[in-house]
Amino acid sequence: MNVLSLASITLEELQNLMKSCALPTFRAKQILDWRNKGILELDAMKNVPNQVKEVLQEHTQVQALKLVSKQKSNDGTRKYLFALQRENQSLKHIETVLIPEQERGTVCISSQAGCVLDCPFCHTGTQKFEGNLTAAEIVAQVLAVKADLLADPMDEDLHSQVTHIVYMGMGEPLANEIEVFKSLDLLMAEDYLHLSRRRITLSTSGLVPQIERLGKDSPVNLAISLHTAINEKRNTLVPINQKHDLNSLRKSLNTYPLAKSRHITLEYVMLKGINDSQEDLDALIRFVNPERERVNLIRFNTYPGSDFQGSATNVTDNFAKSLISKGIRATVRRSRGDDIMAACGQLKTAKSGK
Ligand code: SF4
Repeated sequence: MNVLSLASITLEELQNLMKSCALPTFRAKQILDWRNKGILELDAMKNVPNQVKEVLQEHTQVQALKLVSKQKSNDGTRKYLFALQRENQSLKHIETVLIPEQERGTVCISSQAGCVLDCPFCHTGTQKFEGNLTAAEIVAQVLAVKADLLADPMDEDLHSQVTHIVYMGMGEPLANEIEVFKSLDLLMAEDYLHLSRRRITLSTSGLVPQIERLGKDSPVNLAISLHTAINEKRNTLVPINQKHDLNSLRKSLNTYPLAKSRHITLEYVMLKGINDSQEDLDALIRFVNPERERVNLIRFNTYPGSDFQGSATNVTDNFAKSLISKGIRATVRRSRGDDIMAACGQLKTAKSGK
């Protein structure tokens, strides 16, 4: 029998557990009130009697993750290294990032330990793939960040709440479809974190059948790691393109359901001499559907051993200006947390072997 995790257990499951142990079912709600604040330590659940805590200890996995380390960037960004709490398995590690701003707190979560897709410019892609995370391990990252913000709030000028979630950490979320879809349901559930789908963004390198299923089941905000609009080039830069090329990606983007005034984000990391020429720009302009999509140009964050360099600032700015002049919404993403290797594409657990 699968052990239920306290990080992902539903009210109904917990009520059933209480009933089966001859305990009052109202205890389930008390426990979940703590859990939903991010508190998973049983000792901290003040209104829960010891008898109930013993049942939780015996019948659930209380902690899905263990915090190994936390780093703070000069700009307030925090990077967490967690160890997965799995029985009888070698220790696996993942990273999670909190990006605080004045008006929001965004948690960037991992969906896999490592990634199989090997995009050559991506630091995570250089890490040995160690497996898919469970839905509990995915949502537990959000709970852990909430708990950290309770214990260690941000300075006054930054938000100390989790308001937005992005699936942009380690791994390709749609390669772990079942657990990621379960985690989305949990994050949006009324008796869990109750986040609106408008506050959740899933970033994928372009697994077309899964994008279509996401659109039907949980149409959260969609971001695509595009990085080039030239098919042959994308076969190398984003190798999943060999299986799902730009034509099939285009079809899936055209039918992805969009909420009012929402857009699909096309992420484009600016790589010097690789995807930043006039030809690259022209192909990008031809590819984008300005009615439904916007472009997010990302400055490349280097990492030790990388063969790639970021484009010059004026080249990136010129890309943005040219896109805007064609009626395409385009922004240059401000890099956050690069001093602690927490910026986009930099995540790789220091504990990994590769
Ligand atoms: S860019 Fe995303 S899909 Fe590609 S290797 Fe990195 S984590 Fe995996």
